[in-house]
Amino acid sequence: MNDGRRHAGPDHHPGPSEADAVSGVLRVAVPVPLRRVFDYLPPAEGPEGQPGVRVRVTFRGRRRTGVILATGAAPEVDSSRLRRAEAVLEEEPLWPTPLFQLLLWAAEYYHHPVGEVLAVALPGTLARGGLPPSPPRLWRLTPEGAEVDPAELARAPRQRALLQALARDPLSEAELRTVAPELQRPLKRLAERGWIASQAGSRVAVSDHEPEAGPPLNPDQEAAVAAIREAEGFQPFLVEGVTGSGKTEVYLEAIQPVLDQGDQVLVLVPEIALTPQLLARFRRRLAPRLAVLHSALAEGERLAGWEAARRGEAQVVIGTRSAVFTPLARPGLVVVDEEHDPSFKQQEGLRYQGRDLAVARARREGIPVVLGSATPSLESLVNVEAGRYRRLRLPRRTGSAGLPEVGLIDLRGKAAEGGLSPPLLQELRETVERGEQALLFLNRRGYAPVLLCPACGWTQQCPHCDRPLTYHQRRWMLLCHLCGHNRAVPPQCPESGCGNPDLQTAGLGVEQVERTLERHLPEVRRVRVDRDTTRRKGALEAKLEEIAAGRAQVVIGTQMVVKGHHFPEVTLVGVLDPDSGLYSPDFRARERLFQQILQVAGRAGRAERPGRVRVQTHHPDHSLFGPLRAHDYPSFAAEELSERRAAGLPPYAPLALVRAEAAEADEARAFLDRAREQGEGLGTAGVRLLGPAPAPVERQQGLYRAQLLITAERRSPLHRALAGLAPRLEAIPDEGVRWSLDVDPGDLF
Ligand SMILES: [Zn+2]
Ligand SMILES: [Zn+2]
Repeated sequence: MNDGRRHAGPDHHPGPSEADAVSGVLRVAVPVPLRRVFDYLPPAEGPEGQPGVRVRVTFRGRRRTGVILATGAAPEVDSSRLRRAEAVLEEEPLWPTPLFQLLLWAAEYYHHPVGEVLAVALPGTLARGGLPPSPPRLWRLTPEGAEVDPAELARAPRQRALLQALARDPLSEAELRTVAPELQRPLKRLAERGWIASQAGSRVAVSDHEPEAGPPLNPDQEAAVAAIREAEGFQPFLVEGVTGSGKTEVYLEAIQPVLDQGDQVLVLVPEIALTPQLLARFRRRLAPRLAVLHSALAEGERLAGWEAARRGEAQVVIGTRSAVFTPLARPGLVVVDEEHDPSFKQQEGLRYQGRDLAVARARREGIPVVLGSATPSLESLVNVEAGRYRRLRLPRRTGSAGLPEVGLIDLRGKAAEGGLSPPLLQELRETVERGEQALLFLNRRGYAPVLLCPACGWTQQCPHCDRPLTYHQRRWMLLCHLCGHNRAVPPQCPESGCGNPDLQTAGLGVEQVERTLERHLPEVRRVRVDRDTTRRKGALEAKLEEIAAGRAQVVIGTQMVVKGHHFPEVTLVGVLDPDSGLYSPDFRARERLFQQILQVAGRAGRAERPGRVRVQTHHPDHSLFGPLRAHDYPSFAAEELSERRAAGLPPYAPLALVRAEAAEADEARAFLDRAREQGEGLGTAGVRLLGPAPAPVERQQGLYRAQLLITAERRSPLHRALAGLAPRLEAIPDEGVRWSLDVDPGDLF
């Protein structure tokens, strides 16, 4: 399928009898932005290498760490012109074969340089040629240490803290340092007393505490768990459960027997959902060795988790999208929670969809994969329709709470001054008076998206992104949410000849809602949860704690409050400004909006008390609201799908996007004009090229952005066209133009 590029995987490399150590060459994926591989002579000494091991080579005068794709290949040029590889870095491949094959497949599917794909899939240290760490020494309690009452150590608080931490789990020094940063002396003291001892080696053998039992399952949950447990080999499931239906219990019960069997489980969650509460729940219920992997980890931690997973010591690997690349010694099950969440799509570099790769990986590993959501992606629903995924429904909430009642507040002709309409304010007041909590949802940070001068029409634009700076009243600044550019709020209109001191805001942000609330219900205790108020480490946890303990009466939040958190006392949810999502140019906007509202609605009425949701809108007749009020995601999805089918959009028609960015609009445009010519020159039947056109966000961080859409009715012609196009794009002289190819883009911005 890919004529512009030689590709070779473990499938293609010749057997040992054909391999000729003298004439054969190493075919190496080098991490450079080129869609081809490079031949090297095997190194003069050391191991000869095999597919999947790293190799140090010189590439255009620079030392690089590449990965061998094939050995013993016949050189394509005179071998006297080939360089010798410097050294093969390990004897055994870093990846188990199915994962290595998945990575090679991903390079083809996303039409991305294979050397970069392999580098992305490794922790940074390894990608740069460093060595995998050896297993850490673990400290644990001796039988004598287990008898000690920590109260005896009242006057040695660090020793006490270490002893208490080790009572739960054997831990490495790196892990213990989070308990007591200055740990050498107390550790030594405890060891001298014979209470603790350390040894190198496997962690699995030393796991001995008993998992906590879960709540009893309802019949729907039981049926779902049974179906997953009975699955043999590759089988994708879609667990479609209304919010509060106990999806996580289903995962936990499905995971347990996999661990009992000694196999490992990979769990992917959205970025925002990876909270300490979630991890604590997994630890408590499964008592497993957890390896947690996400992009914010320090490099050492990431590497340690990756290694623990690869060696089979971590029983459950839980992480955000990039965790899909974690090698597992004994994979048994993959779980993707909130599978519809946009954060599974990587938007830079290798633009992969983590959920899709999770399914592709499970297929190669020959194991079941569970996707879960209250509002599944339309992609997954089509896979159910086509019989590729098996659907498991959880239509009921656990416990006694029913689904919240959803009502609309018609804003036409009403003043929702400061974001809160009089009827919503009234309900807020009543809710708080009953001793219950309310949650106000608005997915926009800051005070207002625009600061403007009513006299002359001035607004402050971002000089790099050509869009208004958001007004942040609390920090007294204007801030670009795209690039971070900021400046102080001017005391008066800066337009020459104007100088009007009465600048006004337009539009609504969470800060403003907080102010409005303060004005109308000053006695109410409120807490705002957004990126601005949770910047400090631990701040989000502190706020969630404040809410859970009932100290906050009204919560105001962006999408950060939507996911995974349990707010059992919340009985009223206000959705303040959904209207921009109703008429967005992005074809996924309505799907996202519906998913988001249902998810935030799910925060209401989880305990004994019924919940209410109030949606403020200027468009109460919009077709989205009927199914929303009925909590009827399936009919919404059916209607949305029929529109997508009619419009020739995903998930029915596959889509790819060539994006170009340049300092001058003409340059980006010219690159895409050439790209279009090249694409047309391929003559692939059934493929349509749309554009080039300016991107909806036309300027960002000082660069003009344009895009060319490529669609087809079916996947195979699209991929044939992209395979032909990618190497030609590389050949276009593109000085000053940054371009990318995005297969299955998450949005068109
Ligand atoms: Zn002015
Ligand atoms: Zn900007």
